[in-house]
Amino acid sequence: MDFSLTAEQETLIKVIAKFAKNELLPDYMKWDREEKFPRKHWNKMVEMGLPGMTIPEEYGGMAVDCVTAGLVVEELGKGDFNCSLAVISQLLAAEILNKSASEKIKAEWLPRIANGEKIVALAITEPHCGTDAVALKTRAEKKGRVYVLNGEKSGISWTFADATLVFAKTNPEAGARGVSAFLVPMNLPGITVQKYKDLGSKPVTRGSIFLEDVEVPAENLVGAEGEGFIQVMKGFEFSRILLGLGCLGAAQITLEETIKYVKERHAFGKPLAKFEGVSFPITEHLSKLEAVRWLSYRALWLKDQGLPHGKEAAMVKWMGPQYSVEAIHDCLILHGHYGYTQEYPVEQRLRDVMGMELGDGTANACKIVIVRDVFGREFLPY
Ligand SMILES: Cc1cc2nc3c(=O)[nH]c(=O)nc-3n(C[C@H](O)[C@H](O)[C@H](O)COP(=O)(O)OP(=O)(O)OC[C@H]3O[C@@H](n4cnc5c(N)ncnc54)[C@H](O)[C@@H]3O)c2cc1C
Repeated sequence: MDFSLTAEQETLIKVIAKFAKNELLPDYMKWDREEKFPRKHWNKMVEMGLPGMTIPEEYGGMAVDCVTAGLVVEELGKGDFNCSLAVISQLLAAEILNKSASEKIKAEWLPRIANGEKIVALAITEPHCGTDAVALKTRAEKKGRVYVLNGEKSGISWTFADATLVFAKTNPEAGARGVSAFLVPMNLPGITVQKYKDLGSKPVTRGSIFLEDVEVPAENLVGAEGEGFIQVMKGFEFSRILLGLGCLGAAQITLEETIKYVKERHAFGKPLAKFEGVSFPITEHLSKLEAVRWLSYRALWLKDQGLPHGKEAAMVKWMGPQYSVEAIHDCLILHGHYGYTQEYPVEQRLRDVMGMELGDGTANACKIVIVRDVFGREFLPY
């Protein structure tokens, strides 16, 4: 067992950590207030090759391993959690396309994700179903050289995306095997987008996508018909770990800020840090986050080895966001009334990280994955 990083990883992490601290962190609250995507920082992340970091070199990516991608998103989470989400979303889209899309789609889209020219979203959730994703109703019917898509997707991140991986039923009778994935350019006729007003992660922008007789070229089918559900679930086995690490990054920086604060703030003639009622909860959060952190890297390492890691990814995804939210909440309280103001980033981190208790599957959805693995399919609730 070797926990050390390679020299390349050490160097890369130093660069990302510096960028996160000096460039992302100072603007983190600004983008929330303006509800704007941090285009300026995105361009810098593109320059560093981050959205395409796992894309093979032949398609313009850096072909880094998954552990390295995890290290990067954890550091980004310390600077601007929403920037870590932006990178993760592109790594997920690239993962699905690289595994399943036709050579033509890969050659056209992967280099454009890598060079930041295109942002690709993913739409599975619908107004009536999220956890029970197989119940989706969006329909894709083949008519000659196109598929005609009709339906509504809800709660989808990146309302300004250039294309969306849309999951739709090609065979409504076939359950999970009837779901297919399509790469849908968002400028096709028949698509409208309605933006939400969210609690947190405002720069991400989330909304509904309405598809009305949208004609998608047949070549934009990703993989074979009926493989969509498997593709997205496999993709989640990657993104769930990365999301966990992004949340841990946000919680870690909040704990660091809080340690500094409670050392400086005095009550009853002493620094707050002298009271065990203050220092012990911080140590507990640090311990839990550290445990999930190493589980995350083990899960990514398993993926790098081509070994099963779905159970570990689900474990990370339920614990990472939940433990991070709990830690950030306690940090807010330890900042006293200042923590409740917008003068400090802690309240925003609470709002932002909480979103990942839902996005990419709730804790319960992840526990269902673990039950399937540990107890067996016959013990699933459906
Ligand atoms: C910030 C954010 C970003 C998102 N981005 C995207 C995106 O880009 N693309 C996309 O497709 N979706 C996205 N979503 C939607 C997200 O994936 C869903 O919200 C999530 O999967 C839950 O689905 P739901 O909201 O329909 O809740 P439901 O499925 O209706 O569940 C409601 C509650 O019941 C619980 N529940 C449901 N079934 C069970 C069960 N069998 N056992 C125990 N508990 C159960 C759930 O855990 C949840 O707490 C995003 C959501 C958020 C908040």
